[in-house]
Amino acid sequence: MTDTLIPDREQATAEVADLQLRTDLFIDGDFRPARDGRRFVSENPATGRPIAEVAEGGAVDVDAAVAAARAAADRGVWSRMDPAARKRILLAWADRIDAEARPLGLIETIDAGKPISDTVGLDMPETAACIRWHAEAIDKLYGQVAPAPDGVVATITREPVGVVGAVVPWNYPAQMAAWKLGPALATGNSVVIKPASTTSLSLLRIAELGAEAGIPDGVLNVVTGPGDTVGAAIGRHPDVDCVAFTGSTEVGRRFLAWSAESNLKRVLLELGGKSPQIVFEDVSEMANVAANAAVAIFWNMGENCSAGSRLLVHRSRKADLLEALQAELAAWPVGDPLDPGTKIGALISAQQLDRVLGYVEVGRSEGARLVTGGKRILEDTGGYFVGPTIFDGVRNDMRIAREEIFGPVLSVIEFDTEAEAVEIANDTAYGLAASIYTDDLNVAHRVARELKAGTVGVNAYAEGDMTTPFGGYKQSGFGGHDKSIHAHDQYTELKTTWIVLKPGG
Ligand code: NDP
Repeated sequence: MTDTLIPDREQATAEVADLQLRTDLFIDGDFRPARDGRRFVSENPATGRPIAEVAEGGAVDVDAAVAAARAAADRGVWSRMDPAARKRILLAWADRIDAEARPLGLIETIDAGKPISDTVGLDMPETAACIRWHAEAIDKLYGQVAPAPDGVVATITREPVGVVGAVVPWNYPAQMAAWKLGPALATGNSVVIKPASTTSLSLLRIAELGAEAGIPDGVLNVVTGPGDTVGAAIGRHPDVDCVAFTGSTEVGRRFLAWSAESNLKRVLLELGGKSPQIVFEDVSEMANVAANAAVAIFWNMGENCSAGSRLLVHRSRKADLLEALQAELAAWPVGDPLDPGTKIGALISAQQLDRVLGYVEVGRSEGARLVTGGKRILEDTGGYFVGPTIFDGVRNDMRIAREEIFGPVLSVIEFDTEAEAVEIANDTAYGLAASIYTDDLNVAHRVARELKAGTVGVNAYAEGDMTTPFGGYKQSGFGGHDKSIHAHDQYTELKTTWIVLKPGG
């Protein structure tokens, strides 16, 4: 954490006024407007007011970006660069992001409504750390020599897939981009990346910092614009070799279809979730459970694919847990994202606000009991704020327990036995993450094995760190993982070279 970098509200507001925003497409090492000159407005979700007009790319701009990426790949300016040199450039890039964590964090805060303590203190340092981690691996990975027959040398090596397309969401704009860019660039690929329309700004500056650090022209291209044109053009493009997507399951399905209909490009999908947190009867520290459960659902306004949105609790401990959670809410002030004291900022858009409030109505009509929250607040700011919302008396067949809400809405579900808890936890189309709270190591190990989820936290809401892979089971993911050395595999082709030696005299 770089807490010392976080400005107070007055200072932050002053610095926002001085930000120089990049708003054009970044293609072949330069900023340029969209070919047809169109632009769209990006607004501040905490005020509802416009902050910038961003170039609205189209399919023709994706063509230009892919052509630049392909030309860079063909020239080998990046893929064939000495590994140590590629590493140095990516490390220099990470250093620049760290050095600019504050202005970048401010951009992220006004563009995404995220609290400044998160954007400056966490998102930007984590973005730099991700790129650094993958960079450091570059000159430490070896190929293999297979145990082939005598007279043969068989090597197994990895090569970049070529041109990687990436389409990323708005909830962690810089970080989700880094989760794709870090391993894709470290393994020598060229990339065309599309940020979410609501949050284009931080990535444009981050790409510029990459060029300043020495990433060759054409290796990293950013095309801003709508998903159904720019995103679809990347998904359909016959010269994109691999597409990495994070976002809704619905859009993820389309990338699979486009791959089948075009060039069978690899598809890596990191999708939604409805992650369970299971609180067993024996937990001794309910305050700790409540603190973790609150992070799981209220951090980032609940706009988190691994949000622990279903809180399964043993019937005998529900009252304790609800009481502890209510007490914990004092630590989750909602307000101006530029205030370092704010823990819950604005939802990303008016549309997302409607979606979240719509689910509150669904919960009520399904018979769940609203314990707290559930309404728009701070409306006079013009921003899209919803406070922490808790539903009790939720059954797992209710829509609020089955569908991804992507807001600060927690569903509390009771259970009686371990088997029932596991059954409810796994009774979902998703399988991204899960948490278990128990003092009993046997329960922890047993249940962790039973859960159909890519990441299981025990006595904590945890996603692991850069050393651990992140991805989902079932409809939460497909084709690969973000983070860790496993993320390198999906951006590389595995090549066998079978060399038959001439017999010696
Ligand atoms: P989307 O899946 O629509 O957006 C994610 C990314 O995909 C954005 O860059 C978006 O671009 C792009 N996209 C959108 N439509 C298409 C398309 N037809 N073809 C190609 N790319 C497309 O999520 P939403 O923003 O609509 O949010 C809806 C819900 O999705 C959320 O409430 C949440 O449940 C889930 N979601 C899950 C995320 C996760 O981390 N797993 C992240 C974001 C959303 P653009 O912004 O221009 O539309």
